[in-house]
Amino acid sequence: MDRARPQTVTAPVGLTSHEAATRLAEHGPNALPAARRSPLAARLLRELRDPMALLLIAAAGVSGVLLGEVPEAIAIVVIVVVNAVIALVQEGRAEQALAALEALEAPEATVVRDGRRHVVDAELLVPGDLVLVQAGDRVPADLDLVDGDAIEVDEAMLTGESLPAAKRPGGTTDPGVGIGDRDGALFSGTLLTRGAGRGLVVATGPRTSLGAIAAHLHDLRREPTPLQRQLASLTRRLGLAAVVVAAGAFLLSVLLVEGTTTDEAFLTAVALAVAAVPEGLAAVTTVALALGVGRMATRGAIVRRLPAVETLGAVDVLVVDKTGTVTENRMQAEAVLTPDGERHAPDTTLTSPTFAATLALCNDASLDPPTGDPTEQALVSLVSEEVAESWRTRAPRLATAPFTSDRRRMATVNTVDGHLHLLVKGAPEAVIPRCTRAWHEDGNRGFEAADRAALLDLVESVAANGRRVLAIASRDLADVPNDVEAAERDLVLTGLVVLRDPPRASAPDSVAAVRGAGIRLVMATGDHAATATAIAREVGIDGDSVVTGEAIRDGRAAFDVTTVNVLARVDPHQKLDMVMQLQSRGHVVGMTGDGVNDAPALRRADIGVALGRTGSDVAREAADVVITDDDLATIVAAVHEGRAIYDNLRKVIDYLVASNLSEVAVVLASLVVVPSLGVPLFPLQLLWINLLTDGLPALALGVDPPDDGLLTRPPRDPHARLLDLPHLRRLASRAIALAIGALGALLVAHHAFDLDVATERTVLFSALVVAQTTYAWIVRRPPGAGRMPANRWLLASTVGSLVLQVLVVSTPAVNGLFDTVPLSASGWGLAVAGGLSGPAVIAAVRWWRASPR
Ligand code: ADP
Ligand code: MG
Repeated sequence: MDRARPQTVTAPVGLTSHEAATRLAEHGPNALPAARRSPLAARLLRELRDPMALLLIAAAGVSGVLLGEVPEAIAIVVIVVVNAVIALVQEGRAEQALAALEALEAPEATVVRDGRRHVVDAELLVPGDLVLVQAGDRVPADLDLVDGDAIEVDEAMLTGESLPAAKRPGGTTDPGVGIGDRDGALFSGTLLTRGAGRGLVVATGPRTSLGAIAAHLHDLRREPTPLQRQLASLTRRLGLAAVVVAAGAFLLSVLLVEGTTTDEAFLTAVALAVAAVPEGLAAVTTVALALGVGRMATRGAIVRRLPAVETLGAVDVLVVDKTGTVTENRMQAEAVLTPDGERHAPDTTLTSPTFAATLALCNDASLDPPTGDPTEQALVSLVSEEVAESWRTRAPRLATAPFTSDRRRMATVNTVDGHLHLLVKGAPEAVIPRCTRAWHEDGNRGFEAADRAALLDLVESVAANGRRVLAIASRDLADVPNDVEAAERDLVLTGLVVLRDPPRASAPDSVAAVRGAGIRLVMATGDHAATATAIAREVGIDGDSVVTGEAIRDGRAAFDVTTVNVLARVDPHQKLDMVMQLQSRGHVVGMTGDGVNDAPALRRADIGVALGRTGSDVAREAADVVITDDDLATIVAAVHEGRAIYDNLRKVIDYLVASNLSEVAVVLASLVVVPSLGVPLFPLQLLWINLLTDGLPALALGVDPPDDGLLTRPPRDPHARLLDLPHLRRLASRAIALAIGALGALLVAHHAFDLDVATERTVLFSALVVAQTTYAWIVRRPPGAGRMPANRWLLASTVGSLVLQVLVVSTPAVNGLFDTVPLSASGWGLAVAGGLSGPAVIAAVRWWRASPR
């Protein structure tokens, strides 16, 4: 493989920005080339390869060449092509919406250039760059590890190995060795699950190991949703049924209708088959999904898996993180406590010098640019960035026991002024029990059980004001321990830091909105119960129902979603447990997460929501949706959009299936009821109806603005399917209602007015157009809908369809082509009355069903 080895860099100091720019020009961006779109003509051909379209074109060819009906044949081909172009435009819009999402998710990397840290677009990395990575990150390019420890990487996407691989600086980087054995190298696209370190970029973009297999990667966003799969199979089945029905219609018209020529009957049968298949269904739903997903993105919710959009509307339990989702996650040090509990303004000189050293060194965050955990950023700002940097250059880190939400503490081993220290920070309950001494101005003192209990009580009272408290401790070491965690004992407590993280201003409204939407809200946090309770109260969540993870683990409390609103001191395993418990009780669970360990719960949840601002790449990859600002309000907006999209999908399906079936019903029934009509509707008439209805109104329904009752209705029943048998049966009866209306017009025209055949047929044709365009307006209003904003598209398409219909009927120039004749006022009256009666009956039945009896 052509791997560019950095030649100029020997010591890991990073590149200059000038050098980086030169290399970028030479090596190109660190991105995999996008799949190229096939040319327009090829895509159009693909649309036309649809069996129905082919059948129609063949039939047109037959009638044009053999029967001499050339204008008709041309018109049919034009309509088929127009249909294909509409589908193409629809697909193009869907494609654009999805592609825009990819750009939003552009990965970033922390790189050292000109001797400073920068956060840059990962695309701008070049060979030779010095890159910082830490647990939770996606490796942005192929790297040779320079330093760092306790690093573990999930390389499953490259090697298929599900256990994390341990990495060490100075390990094998030889490209001749298999990927799984290169323990000194990090590979682009793999996920750091533990540790932190720096690496030199050795390959970017298509030259990375990921680039070599890029062809096998696929975008989850393009995976069809369960509904789309159902629709595809429905369309196929309807297609088959249509062919059978069309064959029946062909036989019927030849047998029943005297004087029908076989070629006329044949062409009508083909057109019927085409008209009966709601081929717009798949395309319009894709557009509705993609545009909805685009709307969600503008509101800060990025959908990573398309099927999630359908599920969003069914979520009935939402488990959200406190930190960042309910609160701002702008941690600020508010006070420092000395080990004997005295409270002071934030100042690092109040206790031993190792206190400041621990804040700076047992810490992976930095302020310029702001990177890392906000809790750690607050500690850096407490000592100041400059002081923190100077500690970091003076006292190199030799080993780490990283922070995890289950350990609730972090420890590092550093050489401070020639002495080896273990530096620890973490939740008071996780640190104070490991302290046997405490700093005091007169020298360290013993720190007994009673002292520890008293201090923990004090911490509890501080936490009850909604504050987060971190305990800081350290000890001297003789050697670098092999197992850092085992060395976390006999610590000297040097002080505590009180951090403040206010609730978001929007949080009370969001909490109320979630409730109003019939969704149970549970706030989960790794924080202290008292902190959680205080924050919960501030935003309007019932804080009395707090349960801690320990209590659940020890069997002292149960997690019962009907009573518990706040969970404190939970770890990620418990979040996973919680999801599974809720699901086993039939709930559809949305859950937020940010850390590496949250990934299993995010994957398991029906809707895994990763927090984009503070969340790790690992959480992001596991999630269905990424919320870019971490805000609960954005989750509410996403649920809102999810419901709106689902509603619109339902509208499109209800509309297309019923109106297409009504065409079949009309043709079959009129063959039997008014045989003297001959072929009830001519091919071009059927295709015209199909074009007017399948195209624009369906699209307009797909982008229908949501009614304002959307967020005050309970979530939809997760088990109710849009395409289950009862629903299809309901749609079939609606089709019959529409058909009866149009047939009624025909019957009255035939028996009462005794019109000529061409006029009767024109009445039937027009009645069907009126019925379908009106039906769209009934479908638009879901049962129990609130006020509905105007849908300009639907209005335009309705008016447009009706005007075109009038033109087709009343313009002598096209009468011949469409086999229509101009209608008198009574003719129009019949068509309109018949056309409206079907939708009127449907609306009445719906109203009757919805009204309480
Ligand atoms: P949350 O769910 O609210 O984000 P976390 O799981 O991140 O909570 O943190 C749980 C507890 O661990 C916190 O209350 C704090 O005491 C401690 N903690 C948080 N971040 C760190 C860190 N970077 N280093 C050490 N301890 C931490
Ligand atoms: Mg956290």
